[in-house]
Amino acid sequence: MILSIVQFGDPVLRKKGARIEAITPEIKKLIADMFETMHDRHGVGLAAQQVGHAVQLTVIDVSPVAVERPSTLHLDGKAADVKAFMPLVLINPEIKPVADAVEGPEGCLSFPEIFADIERPESIEVTAMNEKGEHIHFRAGGLLARAVQHETDHLHGILFIDRMSTYTKRELKPQLDELQALTKAALKQKGKKEPGNFCGVGSASPFDKGRGVFSLGPLSCHTCSNRSAPSPIPRACASSRCWRRTSFP
Ligand SMILES: [Zn+2]
Repeated sequence: MILSIVQFGDPVLRKKGARIEAITPEIKKLIADMFETMHDRHGVGLAAQQVGHAVQLTVIDVSPVAVERPSTLHLDGKAADVKAFMPLVLINPEIKPVADAVEGPEGCLSFPEIFADIERPESIEVTAMNEKGEHIHFRAGGLLARAVQHETDHLHGILFIDRMSTYTKRELKPQLDELQALTKAALKQKGKKEPGNFCGVGSASPFDKGRGVFSLGPLSCHTCSNRSAPSPIPRACASSRCWRRTSFP
């Protein structure tokens, strides 16, 4: 299922993700949906915050631009095939720089039409858990290193604008202010509440305990993918942790 991508101005982008301790069916579904969403939008990486979930999960696939923007990969100290390593799921990733910073172009699906050169270490060591719950460790260079760093930043509520030069950020300020204002206006219109109630993290939402009723939604909750919503109409989303049941009557 293709998910909506959260835009700059939505507070969830500033939330530090909760660690994931187990690969539950919900996490598996989220991973599949994130891949579908990322490929649909021609991104090379997507963090859970960008689809509204403040958890430490990101998906990456640099293979579509392997020629234009090369990557390197080392496994156990040996050079490995990047394409064979894609797509990549990183859960609770930790990174360590192992090379000097270099400048390179970046964009972000949460910042449409905004691009900038960002300085980041050219090569990094990465440790994480994969989608099977296995511990993985690798050294990444080139675009892969950049993508892992960009996405890991998202998982900690850090955005690429935070790493722009003062000059670049000043140049982009009108666009950033406009995007932020549009997002906030859209959120206000949808009646969205401030963050704190995220699927998979737990919450004290007033919509908890199955009281939420959504009259416009499909058979499943359109945000948290919960398919256990009972019928007949009105359907209550049975997820006690759904945070964005916005189509309340
Ligand atoms: Zn991004």
